[in-house]
Order: sequence, then C-alpha cells, then structure tokens
Amino acid sequence: MLPQDMLALGTKRSAIRELFEYGKLRKAQVGEDKVYDFSLGNPSIPAPKDVDDAIKELVDGGNSVLLHGYSSAQGDANVRKTIADYLNKTHGTSFSPDNLYMTCGAAASLCISLRALLLPGEEVIAFAPFFPEYVVFVEGQGGKVKVVPPTASFQPDLEAFEKAINKNTKAVIINSPNNPSGVVYSEDTIKAIAEILEKKSKELGREIFIIADEPYRELVYDADTKVPYITKYYRNTIVCYSYSKSLSLPGERIGYILVPDEVCESKSIYACVCGAGRALGYVCAPTMFQQVVAKCCGKTGDISAYKKNRDLILGGLSEIGYECVKPDGAFYLFVKALEDDANAFCEKAKAHDLLIVSGDGFFCPGYVRISYCVSEKTIRDSMPAFKALFDEYNK
Ligand code: PLP
Repeated sequence: MLPQDMLALGTKRSAIRELFEYGKLRKAQVGEDKVYDFSLGNPSIPAPKDVDDAIKELVDGGNSVLLHGYSSAQGDANVRKTIADYLNKTHGTSFSPDNLYMTCGAAASLCISLRALLLPGEEVIAFAPFFPEYVVFVEGQGGKVKVVPPTASFQPDLEAFEKAINKNTKAVIINSPNNPSGVVYSEDTIKAIAEILEKKSKELGREIFIIADEPYRELVYDADTKVPYITKYYRNTIVCYSYSKSLSLPGERIGYILVPDEVCESKSIYACVCGAGRALGYVCAPTMFQQVVAKCCGKTGDISAYKKNRDLILGGLSEIGYECVKPDGAFYLFVKALEDDANAFCEKAKAHDLLIVSGDGFFCPGYVRISYCVSEKTIRDSMPAFKALFDEYNK
C-alpha cells in the first residue's frame, strides 16, 4: 500500500505544468514562434553579470573542496552575516546571522516554516488569488488552507479576513508583489492586516504568524511603488525569501528564512526551523550559491525588460478590450476571462495557440494569468491571436 495523497500529487501535474508540457509538444508540431506560451513564471532575463563574475571568482579561488563541500546546516555564517547586514542597511532593521536559515528557494522556505509552526489540523489563511502550491505545502505539513477572497482591487478583503480567523488559525501567508495578480499590497493594507492580527491574537489568546512569501520583492516597476517590509509592521513575521526571480536563478534553488528576534519564542521557532530543515532533508542549501548570492546582495537582472513587457501587454490587451488588473510588480498579468468559465476560456485561447492559465487554480475563478516573462517579440506576435480570441466572443 502506498500513500494515496503522494501518489495523487505525483501522478497529476499542476495545471501550469500541464500547459507548459502541452506547449513543448505543440511547438515541435507548428514551430517555436507560432505558440505564445504565457504559462510559466520562469524568468526570461539573464542573471546579472555579477552572478557570473561571482561564480568565476569562486571557482578560480582554488578551494574547490570548501566551495562544493557541506556548509553548516543553517548555512554559512559569513553568508548569513552578509545578508543580515544588507537587510539592515536596506530596511533599518537589526537582524543577525542567527536570524537567518539558508534554504533551497521559496518552496523549501515555505515548507520548512510551515513545518516549524503547524500542529496537525491548524489553519493557514491565504489571500486569493494565490500560488496554487500553497495548498500542497500547507497540507504536506499537516495543516489546512483557509481561503480569503479578494476585493475588487485585488487587495485582501479585510472584513472576510477577520471573520476567517479562529482558534485554529496559526498563520497567514502574504505574497506581495503577488503571483498571479501582480498587485502590491499597500502600506495601509499591511497595517490593517497587522491590526486585525494583534486584536484577534489577544481575543483568542494565541499567537498568529505572518509568513511573508517574497520571491518578487524587487520586481516592481514604478518609482512610487513601495513594498512594505512586513517585519516592521507585525512582530510575529517570518520571511521566506528566494533569489529565483530577483537574480533569475530558479534552477539553483537558493533563498532563506528570516526569523527576527521580535517573533515570540524566536529562539525556539528558529530551532523548529532547523528541526524542520532536518526532517524535510533541506539542511545545507547549495554551498556555492550561498556564496554567490552573498556576493550579489541587492543586485537584480535588468528588470526594465519586464517593465517594458508589462506596459506592452497591458496596453495591447486593454486596447483590444480585455479587462486587466494593473500589475505593479512580479511578472504576471491577471485578466478577466471573456466567459464565466475561465477553464473553457483557456481552452478557446489554446485553439489560437495562446497558452494562458485559468484563475481557478489560484482560487480566483473568472480570471486568467498571463506570465509576461517572455520575449518582447512573443508579446508583439501574440496580439493578433488575442484580438481573434476577443472577436470570437464579440461577433
Ligand atoms: N511563492 C510564489 C508566490 C511563487 O510564485 C513561487 C514560484 O513561482 C514560489 C513561491 C517558489 O519559488 P522558488 O522557485 O524560489 O522555490
């Protein structure tokens, strides 16, 4: 007998992966440039030159045994110090290396943090729309996801949020800039979430944590877009960071968990993070890339390409007549489907070789996600197909 939940997860691909695999087959049939693949959030800009320089410097440094060897389970102490110093300089905080645990990207950060916090059956609130893997991560660690719907502007519905908190609530995940809407939660939203959590924690006599899932923190496109640093607004905040998107390094699996001293029982929670890292087999994040990211603190690829893509696709689709949510960050555009059933709409889009993802999987039916981390040419070439799809509904 095998565990049926794992069998189900392993045999059924996510809708996004399914579409991506379909796209590969379809491209082989009709040609790469005839398929407009907006399915995956795979960075399309190269890593900054600093990454290559850092790799060369490390490889030429001559100490390959150390470079490729195990680090401490929680990550190299000098790397953690460099990252803590960078965060303190950027956000005016006072973190130390002992607040940081190096991990294999945001996915590992989330699984470890959830395993470190959750008792069986406890609930984790997620604001729709959200990254579908949250359900896998939370349920995989014995918890349950409670979904809170968005408001019309795709900020969280705060009234519904307050109602959703109960004696089983352990944490709420905040992902801003958001996958799939591209929305950045305003400072007022973060303050309001913090106030509600303070009030409900007192009322219920239990600590409730924010898990800030931040792989898109640096990907914002306008000077007036600020991404509040949540540890400064709510003390029980654990940050799950990843370099997958900011440095275009998703295949290298590198990121960190931050447990600030202000978090209640922070030393014990950090110990639980270390324990969960062990239990889940995530000790010692890739050693060479720990060193690389330490050398590249504060760097990003040339994100002006994403801004250009955002403006191009937002402008193009709005002009055709699509209703779009303006993305302030990340590299996703959330668009109202042209019929209530977003899955059916995506199937019709597929007939035009437009590969877009239904909002149903993101707990936001009636919408679709378009990943614009593609070439500018793909966006330009796809416009006639988007127009033909629109016309099909507006004969
Ligand atoms: N969280 C969100 C919101 C994401 O969009 C992703 C990846 O797309 C992840 C977590 C996982 O990121 P990583 O590749 O760093 O594990």
